[in-house]
Amino acid sequence: MHDLSSYNSFGLHVSAQDLIVVQSEAQLDEIDLEQVLILGKGSDVLFTDDYDGTVLIDEIKGVQIERDGPDYLVRAGGGVVLDELIAELVSRNISGMENLSAIPGTLGAAPVQNIGAYGVEIGDLIEEIEFYDLERHVLQTFDREQCAFAYRSSYFKEHKSDPLFISRVTLRLNSVFDPDLSYKGVRELDPKSPYELRTRIAQLRRQKLPDPQEVGNAGSFFKNPVVTEDKLKELQARYSDLPVYRTAQPGLYKLAAGWLIDKAGCRGITHGHAGTWEHQALVIVNRGGARPHEIVALAQYVRSEVANAFGILLEPEVRVYNRQGEISWEQL
Ligand code: NAP
Repeated sequence: MHDLSSYNSFGLHVSAQDLIVVQSEAQLDEIDLEQVLILGKGSDVLFTDDYDGTVLIDEIKGVQIERDGPDYLVRAGGGVVLDELIAELVSRNISGMENLSAIPGTLGAAPVQNIGAYGVEIGDLIEEIEFYDLERHVLQTFDREQCAFAYRSSYFKEHKSDPLFISRVTLRLNSVFDPDLSYKGVRELDPKSPYELRTRIAQLRRQKLPDPQEVGNAGSFFKNPVVTEDKLKELQARYSDLPVYRTAQPGLYKLAAGWLIDKAGCRGITHGHAGTWEHQALVIVNRGGARPHEIVALAQYVRSEVANAFGILLEPEVRVYNRQGEISWEQL
């Protein structure tokens, strides 16, 4: 058995039957297993139990940078730490990734759930993704369109039955600094360089979000819900201060899950050794020594309180695994 506590950012003490650290594509050719789970740093997973299969850790490294007209093409290994890559890019004045600064995890994991922060989603920056299909034993390349990016989703997340190992990611980035300053907190900024923007983003995150090195967590636990205009009007009649954001689809509006959880009285609460974060209720934390069932029970409680208060069922963003593999929240 292999301890997974350093491979899940909740820091839960669970184990896997076996664990293989993958450092090259050639190594993947030799892997022929029934039950596998691919992890980077495990910053978006919740284990409800020990895992009965083999965990593959993506540690394929290497960064290549080349010019392509006014852009840069940056091809890097799936095991490269996302924030270390961003630090290297801003030091060379290559921009586009700054709003994703200080997000824990690896580059290979980032496109799976199309991570996003402060108005930038990684899917928008992807040129192509190289991945290894562990069942068919073929290396494939998808362009951005084939990756089917959507809000916290992608082809790689939706095709749960196929074990697809992201080996390399190519990003199309800018040589000219053209920052996205659409979000509160960054809107007021006038950054002169990618480095300045990155520094500010990291500062903003530190103010509201717990550092998983210090407090176990998996970032946002729930997705922001999207509601119809009728539902929005019903809520606005009751809550004049309801934060609302437009979506790309007319008639659909995004609400802030953290705000709903807070209003439902669930910010800073504790169940056993798990709790919701005092500065951002959307984050569930391990207060020290939490057991998987405590995190699950707390999340269920938050979900039912928000449903009772607003008639909205929050959908978890974190992926849940039991002994056999990934399960849906409804199967818990
Ligand atoms: P925040 O700024 O307090 O905003 C709360 C929510 O309102 C966010 O979830 C955000 O939605 C939405 N929002 C704020 N300004 C918006 C705008 N101008 N246009 C559209 N939507 C807007 O959020 P926070 O907790 O400090 O987080 C800051 C950013 O980091 C957010 O973008 C958040 O998604 C991201 N983040 C991601 C994770 C993760 O695990 N994936 C964890 C923590 C934070 P969006 O979430 O859709 O951006």
